[in-house]
Amino acid sequence: MSRIAYVNGRYRLHADAVVHVEDRGYQFADGVYEVIAVQRGRMVDEGPHLSRLDRSLSELRIPWPMSRRALRVVLVEVIGRNRIIDSGLVYVQITRGVAPRSHAIPSATASCLVVTARPLPPFDRDAARKGVAVITIPDIRWKRCDIKTVSLLPNVLGKQQAIDAGAFDAWMIDSDGAVTEGTASNAWIISTAGELITRQASTAILNGITRCAVFGIAADQGCTLVERPFTVAEARSAAEAFQTSTTSVVKPVVRIDDTMIGDGKIGPLTERLLDLYAGHMLAAGE
Ligand code: PLP
Repeated sequence: MSRIAYVNGRYRLHADAVVHVEDRGYQFADGVYEVIAVQRGRMVDEGPHLSRLDRSLSELRIPWPMSRRALRVVLVEVIGRNRIIDSGLVYVQITRGVAPRSHAIPSATASCLVVTARPLPPFDRDAARKGVAVITIPDIRWKRCDIKTVSLLPNVLGKQQAIDAGAFDAWMIDSDGAVTEGTASNAWIISTAGELITRQASTAILNGITRCAVFGIAADQGCTLVERPFTVAEARSAAEAFQTSTTSVVKPVVRIDDTMIGDGKIGPLTERLLDLYAGHMLAAGE
């Protein structure tokens, strides 16, 4: 079956879906995006994702290309046209649009909207329980990591550094020696005292939609939640560690650099949160 993409008002074959060479997303990374999980054909946490998109657009002064309600119609249509009846991902990208190349923001440019979607294998609990290794690297990003921009070069380089080191991801470290986040995920640890610790939302991290959902689930479970920066040393001596994101869900971290976390397997609280979050995700399709 052919994949279909939406580009600026038209549904096109994915292979033929193109944007202009002077699109500012291409020239300046002047754009924002969202990745939304699909379960049983329905978007997971659609409202929070679209609200974050709204915030990213407004922080960069990029106009909405259409109303939020109309965008929702396009998302549903792209999911349907790509026949995602079970699991998948839908990707939305909005850039400032096409203008002669100049740094200054052009006054009257139509934002460029692209939506793609792809199916994924159904959620596999056993595969999800498998722990991964992360390395730590300096955080070399700009000071507005709260905006979900398509400017992801440090994240790209960090992820590749992790792969080259045989790890799944890289946790980035700020100038105070504290973990900010993964290259496309939020970082969490569970102290030996049982506290669930994750960095507070600020301009230093992207406030993940999965992070917020897991936070709510953990609060409902009566977990002791602490939002604060934690150091690499703390992370290495944690009882459990994991990361959260739309694509990696709740991913147990069982090695940080050369240090094994706990007994090198998914910890009990991480497992409980993974199961509860999987329930939350799968409920989106009901
Ligand atoms: N942090 C960064 C830098 C990300 O790129 C992402 C997701 O792409 C996240 C955190 C997790 O966000 P979410 O849970 O909304 O997918």
